[in-house]
Amino acid sequence: MPEPVVAAATVADLVGDRAADWDRAGRLPEEVVRKLGAAGLLAAQIPTAHGGPGWSSLDNGVFTARVGSLCSSLRSVMTSQGMAAWTVERLGSRAQATSLLPRLASTETAAVAFSEPQAGSDLSAIATTVTIEGDALLLDGHKVWVTAAEHADLFLVFARYGEGGAVVVVPRSAPGVRLRRRSDPLGCRAAGHADVWFDGVRLPTDSLLGDGGQSLSLLVTTALTYGRISVAWGCVGILQACLAAAVDHAGRRHQFGNPLAQHQLVARHLADLWSAEQVATRVCEHASRCWDEGSPEVVTATVLAKYVSAGHAVRAAADAVQVLASAGAQDGHPVARAYRDAKVMEIIEGSTEMCQLMLADRALHRR
Ligand code: FAD
Repeated sequence: MPEPVVAAATVADLVGDRAADWDRAGRLPEEVVRKLGAAGLLAAQIPTAHGGPGWSSLDNGVFTARVGSLCSSLRSVMTSQGMAAWTVERLGSRAQATSLLPRLASTETAAVAFSEPQAGSDLSAIATTVTIEGDALLLDGHKVWVTAAEHADLFLVFARYGEGGAVVVVPRSAPGVRLRRRSDPLGCRAAGHADVWFDGVRLPTDSLLGDGGQSLSLLVTTALTYGRISVAWGCVGILQACLAAAVDHAGRRHQFGNPLAQHQLVARHLADLWSAEQVATRVCEHASRCWDEGSPEVVTATVLAKYVSAGHAVRAAADAVQVLASAGAQDGHPVARAYRDAKVMEIIEGSTEMCQLMLADRALHRR
């Protein structure tokens, strides 16, 4: 299994300078996704006992930032795969983990479907249902904005099940599964987003992760805790890319007889960029340590990491475009892409407002 340092070099080779082309085309090459998957790097926290690299959250986070600094679309696909694997590990039976995790650590890709036309921030409004019909399960519903759907062999679908909820593992090839691509999203344009319909999909009963019937909110929080920390580290990557581009440009470009970096108002942007990258890194490290130590603080720490990192990424990407000015105001430039990608980070995995509500709740009940 690859070590984090080797993996970082592998992904740099795989992406090269092609992220802007993928962004414009709105697609990641399938072979890039499959190569990372085959190396176990789409979900590097899958335990070695299940055929994965078994990395810590901290090692995986640093790697996720590296990928995020190169290509947020590819990082988004990693987030989906890692979130799917974690959900199986946490909620699945031993037999399900033994069957599914080695596949997710090698040959198969997965996408996670929570959102629906009427269930965005409020996932208690999920209307998709799973019911038992004789010796089979029947799944009916419509999911929207599913990242990595175009690459997925499997969907993890969050649904109502009796009085509670359930997560159902659905092969893309199952009769009744239909996809419609989401074209031209604002950011992460190449991450294979699609809306997915599940029309009377019949599945074996062991497609239900665990026993089903838990509260929907518990199921969603389990998956999103992984998703949030992964997105937060992806934001660190966006910050690293913006900082590097701004520092490089401010050192080389001269105006009024001096490098831009020597104009103090430009230097202030560099200070803000560096501070943002440092702060986001520290909150992500804290969240990953909580994860690795099994601390009960992990849920709050991941919300905090996601909230802080996404907000800093949005402001810092704007700073970077400002430092580069016309040089960065060009589609295809990394800071222009970062500007769009960063904004999406404030929407997904719990919007900024949802994070604020959760953090306010924590503040009110802290004692
Ligand atoms: P709404 O819930 O309609 O909210 C609109 C605005 O109102 C937001 O600013 C929100 O913060 C605010 N708001 C809502 N309620 C409150 C409140 N009570 N208090 C204060 N403010 C509030 N979904 C998946 O299931 N799987 C995926 O893989 C996935 N990938 C995505 C990728 C991208 C690029 C995007 C854009 C979305 C993706 N989504 C995915 C959907 C995403 O999870 C939702 O967009 C997100 O949860 C917000 O829901 P919404 O867009 O319906 O906004």
